[in-house]
Amino acid sequence: QQQSTTTLVTMMPSPGMGHLIPMIEFAKRLTHNDNTINVHFIIPCDGPPSAAQTTVLRSLPATISHTFLPPISLSDLPSDTKIEPLISLTVVRSLSSLRRTLASLASSGHRVSALVVDLFGTDAFDVADDLNIPSYVYYPSTSMLLSFSFYLPQLDQMVQGEYRDLIEPVQIPGCVPVHGKDLTDPVQDRNDEAYKWLLHHVNRFKRAAGFIENSFLELEPGALNELQKAESGKPPVYPVGPLVNVENGRTGDKDHECLRWLDDQPRGSVLFVCFGSGGTLSSAQIDELALGLEKSGQRFLWVVRSPNDKVANASYFNAQSQADPFDFLPKGFVERTKGMGLVVSSWAPQAQVLAHESIGGFITHCGWNSILESVVNGVPLIAWPLYAEQKMNAVLVTEDTKVALRPKIGENGLVEKEEIASVVKSLMEGEEGKKLRHRMKDLKEAATKTLGENGASTKQIVELANKWKGQTSV
Ligand code: UDP
Repeated sequence: QQQSTTTLVTMMPSPGMGHLIPMIEFAKRLTHNDNTINVHFIIPCDGPPSAAQTTVLRSLPATISHTFLPPISLSDLPSDTKIEPLISLTVVRSLSSLRRTLASLASSGHRVSALVVDLFGTDAFDVADDLNIPSYVYYPSTSMLLSFSFYLPQLDQMVQGEYRDLIEPVQIPGCVPVHGKDLTDPVQDRNDEAYKWLLHHVNRFKRAAGFIENSFLELEPGALNELQKAESGKPPVYPVGPLVNVENGRTGDKDHECLRWLDDQPRGSVLFVCFGSGGTLSSAQIDELALGLEKSGQRFLWVVRSPNDKVANASYFNAQSQADPFDFLPKGFVERTKGMGLVVSSWAPQAQVLAHESIGGFITHCGWNSILESVVNGVPLIAWPLYAEQKMNAVLVTEDTKVALRPKIGENGLVEKEEIASVVKSLMEGEEGKKLRHRMKDLKEAATKTLGENGASTKQIVELANKWKGQTSV
């Protein structure tokens, strides 16, 4: 009778899309070709589910189901509360409904074998412990940031004052040295709530039964070897990456004008320029970037957003973000670069763009999904980090993996047009670019292999599935 019992793995992503998408990719791989294991997403929120969330969740196979928890209120929090406390408190305030949902799943005949939370969901460990369900953390960023997280409680004890003022770089176990000012945003102000919440979560990390890490050995050997050292108190780390969403969850993008334009460009000739789902530049920086791209003489495809520096108040902001971002480009730029460049407003189907054979390079804000999407397609990078842990990611890809160039910021705080033109030329047609491209190709091959039938990442997923099904793996 054991055979007929379905194993249920529950997953609780942070509110929003950012962590839901990569967790879904993990869920798809876990349930692929195995109908004895099902995944149920339990989603905390502070309002009704977004259209984007319901669209992706409804498009999933029958083995992956979901529940939205009743929305909680965050209206008592100050309006300038940062994302880390907002996400963490959404989870904390949803714990009683999480408990009810888990208990009702368990009593309806399912064997609930695991609760997988993400990096801001560690408060759910208490609920899972009470119900005898082992908790895991799905880690959607680098092994470098995970290694830093395990190191942070120690660093917090050792260092007085702000990390950004340290003269010596921080030596994260297994990683290249990183200057304090390049560390992830929530540690830039130790008096802020964001830092306190981060410290709260990383202190609880050791209670997890395991970490599911969206990276792979060839991409981050130093950090992963360090994380996988059998050390008392550190949970096992399962590198399952690179898990990327090849479809981007959007339909109708397949014949986006930029893909048709790319069809007509020479192989490997186009630089893609895109700053993630939320990145914006100042208008002065947009000017420099436009003039730099023009000066480089290289082909480019640029996803442009309205600048973020003229924001006087919320209503002005609304008016402006609805404005045509093309209005903020230098006068005559679009006409002068016609044929060489294409500018698209706000959004492009990035996964398809990076997979296109005309793409030869990518200026990226260094979001981890963007980096992984470049790796699986072998596209070398120009690192232009903006927020979150992106400066650490930029250090990783430039100084450790050496698949990216990083332009210098001028004395005026801007990356100037001459610098942009020179870095773009080096990447697209210089000797330096050739070396980076070569290394990216090697990583692409390693990525294909690790995700293949007998690849290391695939084996990690099988091992987890077996563990959760109650079968000990070899
Ligand atoms: N993305 C896209 N089109 C855009 C901008 C972003 O398809 O114009 C996708 C991109 O492919 C990636 C995700 O949005 O999958 C961005 O994730 P990432 O971790 O790189 O950065 P974030 O937006 O979370 O800062």
